Amino acid sequence: MQYDDKKAYEFHTSDSADKCFLCKKHINKLLVVRQIATMKMVHLCPECMVNNLSDYLLDNTRPWKETKISK
Ligand SMILES: [Zn+2]
Repeated sequence: MQYDDKKAYEFHTSDSADKCFLCKKHINKLLVVRQIATMKMVHLCPECMVNNLSDYLLDNTRPWKETKISK
């Protein structure tokens, strides 16, 4: 996964794109969220996101690189 602004979207060093950052479950629908403590991006399953809403932020405000935007 790639973002236009790599510095603002740096992933946590312990994060894996194919499993939940907290419970390490392998599921298809992982959420990309920002860990408030480190301001790094991590992958969370919906269950962990709901259980840790005060520690993680949904951060979908910027377009992903795959998204084609007409200028
Ligand atoms: Zn989880």
